[in-house]
Amino acid sequence: MSELRKDLVSGEWVILAPHRASRPHDVKKTSPKRKVAPLNKCPFEDFKKSGNGDPLLSWPHDGKKKVFLIPNKYPALTHGAHCAASRSKGPYEYMDGAGVHDLVVTKDHFLNFPKLSVHDAAGVFEIMRERMRALEKDKCLVYTSIFQCWGPDAGASIYHPHYQMLTMPILPPDVNRSLHESELYFRRRKRCIHCDIIAFESKGNSRVIFKNPLAIAFAPYASRSPYEVKILPRKHFARFEKTPSKVLRATAEILQKTLRALEYNLSDPDYNFFIHTSPLDASSPHYHWHIEVIPKVTVLGGLEWSTGVDVNITDPDQAAKVLRVKK
Ligand SMILES: [Zn+2]
Ligand SMILES: [Zn+2]
Repeated sequence: MSELRKDLVSGEWVILAPHRASRPHDVKKTSPKRKVAPLNKCPFEDFKKSGNGDPLLSWPHDGKKKVFLIPNKYPALTHGAHCAASRSKGPYEYMDGAGVHDLVVTKDHFLNFPKLSVHDAAGVFEIMRERMRALEKDKCLVYTSIFQCWGPDAGASIYHPHYQMLTMPILPPDVNRSLHESELYFRRRKRCIHCDIIAFESKGNSRVIFKNPLAIAFAPYASRSPYEVKILPRKHFARFEKTPSKVLRATAEILQKTLRALEYNLSDPDYNFFIHTSPLDASSPHYHWHIEVIPKVTVLGGLEWSTGVDVNITDPDQAAKVLRVKK
């Protein structure tokens, strides 16, 4: 029998229907292989030549540079002289697309996140943290969304490994919902919902995939899609940009292991990962920043589009079991 499960953080329901996995088109057996773009056509081999200009930041601060932050040449939002103000036109509401759209680019064309050394993977998080610390001073900006699209099925148009940082003058709806539900939980129980979930999952262990002393990865109880993984620092940190380096490093290490597990155990699918964190104005100390990894193994059907209720054909306990298998 299928089961409805509620995600306590987003407040959303999902339908777990493992028996539907027998429908042949639901899970892709093999994913299309990403094509490695030739170096001479890559816009990230020479920032100047490709018109990207000089990096705004680079990492490490001393020694050979391995991670760069550049403005996106095709930004979704651009910062003007003023903060964006909400205006109306008839029944509609709009504002200027004022924001900041950066890319974090690692040096080696051939080394995606799981293939970097742990030190360099931590460097990707370090440069993001440095950028957010600068942006939080800008009172026009509300929230920084950080994500990676890996492969065409995940929406990547450039092969060279890179990560996006889109800083917006609004709270994105998914984040808004999660902040709201976490706050309600905190008000009722005086505890962080994610800290409670971490304690519960660590005890049961059936959905835990990887952990180290500072970070943990598990298959969420109400996973919206097959093989979804959530990664959190085990201690409570509301804001990504306030997290100490050793915690960032431990979290980066668990993310690397998770991405390698997708590669070994799910025929190397394309994926998105994203970071959910508190807004830049420090208004949500009850929130617990984390990473979500979504492998692209299913296609959304009519039910999902029409209701917003996802149907997941993979039991999260089963997903954790598959992903724990080492090569
Ligand atoms: Zn490249
Ligand atoms: Zn917490």
